[in-house]
Parts: sequence; C-alpha cells; structure tokens
Amino acid sequence: MQMNLADSKIAIIGAGPTGLGVAWRLQELGLNDWTLFEKESYAGGLAASFHDTSGFTWDAGGHVLFSHYSNFDGLIERLLGDGWLKHERESWIWMRERFIRYRFRITSATCRNRR
Ligand SMILES: Cc1cc2nc3c(=O)[nH]c(=O)nc-3n(C[C@H](O)[C@H](O)[C@H](O)COP(=O)(O)OP(=O)(O)OC[C@H]3O[C@@H](n4cnc5c(N)ncnc54)[C@H](O)[C@@H]3O)c2cc1C
Repeated sequence: MQMNLADSKIAIIGAGPTGLGVAWRLQELGLNDWTLFEKESYAGGLAASFHDTSGFTWDAGGHVLFSHYSNFDGLIERLLGDGWLKHERESWIWMRERFIRYRFRITSATCRNRR
C-alpha cells in the first residue's frame, strides 16, 4: 500500500497508528509532501480490524484507549462522530476448575474453596 505518490520529501514507514497519526498531523500543519509506505495491503498495524464473510468485524487484539491527551481524544471524537459502539464489558477466565470474573473482585464466592 502506498498513499500520496507525489515526489515527496517526507517518507513515513508503516500505516499503523503512529504512521497514520504522523500523516494526519502533517496534513493538519499544511505539509502534504509526504508518502506513507505500508508493506501490508491494509492500514492499522497491530490495531487493525478485519471483516469476515459473515459480516463480523474482528480486532487483531482487544484495544482500549488509555489516552487522556486532549489532542488525541479530540481527534478520535472528530473521526468517529456518532459512530461509537458501546459494549458492557464482561470477561471471565477459567482458573482453579471454575470461571472467575475478570478483572478480579474479591468476594466470598471467590474465596470459598481456598486451600
Ligand atoms: C493483542 C494486542 C492488544 C493491544 N491492546 C492495546 C490496548 O488496549 N491499548 C493500546 O493503547 N495499545 C494496545 N496495543 C498496542 C498497540 O496496538 C500498539 O501500540 C500500536 O499498534 C503501535 O502502533 P505503531 O504504528 O507504532 O506500530 P504497528 O501497529 O506495529 O504498525 C507498524 C506498521 O508498520 C508496517 N511496517 C513494518 N515494517 C515496514 C516496512 N519495512 N515497510 C513498510 N511498512 C512496514 C507494519 O506492517 C504495520 O502496519 C495492543 C497490541 C496488541 C498486539
């Protein structure tokens, strides 16, 4: 994948979040003489998502936005608009012969069979 084929002065290697962020920021600053090189046929790097033939979207890994950096948060808000999907997080892990809720919570049920 190669974007902006102009004879540019700036080469950005990789269309992961970092490379895409660099390209976005350069564009914001009015600098458009960059070329973004990506070895894969898709953008996103380790944070990419893929669609299967049944219409499901699969993330390469569960991703949580930890940022409290206003520039980044503002950009995500602008890009997603009203496209946010909200999910109730529910995770369980199999441990010591039973399912335990993750993240861990200390309850009497959790401790019941403790040796
Ligand atoms: C399972 C998993 C869960 C994660 N969960 C979180 C999370 O919850 N929150 C969070 O903040 N982060 C999370 N991360 C980390 C996050 O995905 C990475 O920090 C982020 O993707 C790094 O972005 P990057 O652009 O620096 O690198 P990458 O995402 O690795 O992108 C690099 C890009 O460069 C391309 N490339 C490499 N070499 C070349 C080359 N020679 N020429 C052209 N292209 C090249 C690659 O193909 C790739 O597209 C998680 C990562 C994984 C794997």
